[in-house]
Amino acid sequence: MQPSQFIKQTFHCPVCLNEELMTAWTLVHAQADPDLKDRLLRKTLQLHPCSNCGREFQIESGLVYLDSEQKFLIAYEPDLENPAAWQPYDLDHAQPDWTIRLVTDQNQLIEKIHIFDSGLDDRLVELLKLSLLRQENQPVKARRFFYYQPQEPDESALLHFMVAAEDDQWYNLDLERSIYQNTEQLIAAAGLVLPDQWLVDQSTAVGLLRELSQTPLADLS
Ligand SMILES: [Zn+2]
Repeated sequence: MQPSQFIKQTFHCPVCLNEELMTAWTLVHAQADPDLKDRLLRKTLQLHPCSNCGREFQIESGLVYLDSEQKFLIAYEPDLENPAAWQPYDLDHAQPDWTIRLVTDQNQLIEKIHIFDSGLDDRLVELLKLSLLRQENQPVKARRFFYYQPQEPDESALLHFMVAAEDDQWYNLDLERSIYQNTEQLIAAAGLVLPDQWLVDQSTAVGLLRELSQTPLADLS
């Protein structure tokens, strides 16, 4: 089994500018190291205390997340200049039938792991989130939605979202799972094929919505 990997690299503390050699994880294999996966989901994997001032800070370092059971790979590239031109550089780890994704921020990485672990399709989740974003007269003005799966086994069959709102607060939103199934059926009924691409984000949903609007079944509500 492919082990997780790390490098030792010099980082600067953003508070006191102290220079320090730190461990940066570059490959996290969910099956080989479930504890690393857990730390990644809790945002503590790349969190380090500064030995000079004691403040903890996140090191901004890219990594590859592998799930060989569910057959997906997510490349996290925080400093990518041109995501549209990205090509999977590290396909040693992945087989041709794997799902490959590219993300440029940590919240996206965590969200995708939650989405795939829940057996959902991230393209449909993006479409669902975009339709939520476009709903008017909501009590909370949402800026972004992030899907998540609760730690405890969830019997409610609800879909859970963290909502980053325009008032800079975070809210929770729970939706019936049927709204996901409706989105899936809508795509099928319109005869649309979900795009096969690394970068799946809001722009994917905008493209799908545009295609849907050209079919007679354009009602997402
Ligand atoms: Zn420091």
